[in-house]
Amino acid sequence: MTGIESAPDRIELRGLTVRGNHGVFDFEKREGQDFVIDVTLHTSVERAAATDDLTETIHYGELAEDVAGIVEDNTFDLIETLAERIADHCLNLCEHVEVVVHKPSAPIQRAFDDVRIRVERFRTTPAAASAGETAATETEAYLNLGANLGDAADTLDQAVAALDRHPEITVTRRSSLFRTAPWGGVEQNDFLNVGLLVSTSLSALELLSVAQGIEVACGRTRQLRWGPRTLDIDLIRFGTEGAELDSRTPRLTLPHPRAHERAFVLAPWAELVGDTLIDTPQGRRSISAVLAELDDQDIARITPG
Ligand code: ATP
Ligand code: CA
Ligand code: CA
Repeated sequence: MTGIESAPDRIELRGLTVRGNHGVFDFEKREGQDFVIDVTLHTSVERAAATDDLTETIHYGELAEDVAGIVEDNTFDLIETLAERIADHCLNLCEHVEVVVHKPSAPIQRAFDDVRIRVERFRTTPAAASAGETAATETEAYLNLGANLGDAADTLDQAVAALDRHPEITVTRRSSLFRTAPWGGVEQNDFLNVGLLVSTSLSALELLSVAQGIEVACGRTRQLRWGPRTLDIDLIRFGTEGAELDSRTPRLTLPHPRAHERAFVLAPWAELVGDTLIDTPQGRRSISAVLAELDDQDIARITPG
């Protein structure tokens, strides 16, 4: 079973209050007013329900920030448009979303409790692709997945399947599974890691959002940085060697700044692409040369690719 009807879990963000400048009247655009947003994400992977404790994962906070940004950074006449934009963003995170935009201070000359618009949207295959027209530009990206809580191998399989199920992501190559000692000094179980080459028409940020949606859907919880987690999906490179995207924001840093220190990132990558040049503090170097110097890191290939 795949798909929408099999996703009983949901993540709900309620009552996010953001000041914005939407409305048909000039004074609304000029002075602004509060908008209140509710978002319901229906999770798309058949795993344990994600926690809906806002403090337990970083992603709720990021969802709230992204939604607030959409309210603050645009000026629309209609809250219908605003709701649509928010839903569109959320479809990066899951396949089915409901968004309610409330406008409690709408300019209505009568007593009222609330005005709201509710939209419900499902992720669909892009029209151009399904019609066989010229597809959007495809970019190759390298992702590294890690898991060390619960049935880690199963979680990785679920995550790869979920990525591949996304209409704008194709998993083109999957590495062997690697068992690796934890990185970063926190005492914990070994990790299982897998590397993936994907081809995608999404932007890097959208791809990251999709990956984070899958992390949440797989029930990711994590208390400590570099501590145990159900699933971690890192975006290592977006674009091929020499044409890779450079991004320096905390939300998305690319190429991944710690890739060159990690055998669990480089070994699966080398298996997939043979060799490639990556950024290191000593300049551009080949993965094989960098990997050779990380031979103190405990890593073992445990299944054939
Ligand atoms: P590390 O990045 O050292 O492997 P981590 O995977 O434990 O650490 P997370 O808690 O998973 O870190 O992510 C922290 C933040 O990193 C996220 O909010 C995400 O937006 C941001 N981030 C920045 N660049 C990337 C990237 N290339 N891939 C994944 N997340 C990134
Ligand atoms: Ca990581
Ligand atoms: Ca991560």
